[in-house]
Amino acid sequence: MTRLAGKTALITGAARGIGLAFAEAYLREGAQVALADIDIDRAQKEAARLGHRAFAVEMDVTRQDSIDTAVAATVAQFGQIDILINNAAIFTAAPIDEITREDYARCFDINVAGTLFTMQAVAQHMIARGQGGKIINMASQAGRRGEALVAVYCASKAAIISLTQSAGLNLIRHGINVNAIAPGVVDGEHWDGVDAFFAKYEGKEPGQKKREVGAGVPFGRMGVAEDLTGMAVFLASSEADYIVAQTYNVDGGQWMS
Ligand code: NAD
Repeated sequence: MTRLAGKTALITGAARGIGLAFAEAYLREGAQVALADIDIDRAQKEAARLGHRAFAVEMDVTRQDSIDTAVAATVAQFGQIDILINNAAIFTAAPIDEITREDYARCFDINVAGTLFTMQAVAQHMIARGQGGKIINMASQAGRRGEALVAVYCASKAAIISLTQSAGLNLIRHGINVNAIAPGVVDGEHWDGVDAFFAKYEGKEPGQKKREVGAGVPFGRMGVAEDLTGMAVFLASSEADYIVAQTYNVDGGQWMS
């Protein structure tokens, strides 16, 4: 369990949910991990729990100064960044006739521009260092096909798949592998908001949407964050050196159903 020994990872949105599970998995594999999040209090609490190879750093992926400061702080703390996971994102949903420009702009600013410019800042560090690296972007099944009430989030995740292709093709000449993971539905706090939304628009009881969605997954249940950690470790390891610009479904069979 030391496939990432000596490596340093920066993970955005790591204060909770999938990002936190990635941080825990990387630490188990011997890496040093910067937990970057806009919610610095929670990131600090988790980093303290996780021990001396974990480091909390405040980062708002919508602000260039915040990205640059967080990258510099991680390099100052650990000396280098070998792995980046662009995990921070928000979910937003509304029928087409109710989408606002504000919701659209916020979702694309965090999910798409946040991923692009964090990727750029870390790639600049990796290129200057000259030892390659691994970048993993978080896509979604929502980026594979549209959903009636989720247009903006779906479009943002489709953009992540496309960005991963372009960045992957561009950065491999520097030895930087860019790939993405496309989860299906994954249980967690994120689902409180999803459930509340569907309660409003589809008249569901609390928890009903979640139960229905879980029952529809071919595997037989919703995913949990730990279902994704194997792929995140693999894509960050040297075993994935020849993998470029791909998006992998880790979704209990949802894409095929
Ligand atoms: P989550 O909402 O539980 O956690 C997201 C984290 O991002 C939070 O800690 C939050 O504070 C942080 N964040 C939000 N805005 C930020 C900003 N501007 N700058 C820095 N950090 C910010 O999300 P999750 O369910 O763990 O999902 C993680 C990733 O996986 C996301 O990219 C999401 O789109 C993707 N995903 C999730 C699911 C799912 O069902 N949960 C499915 C497919 C893909």
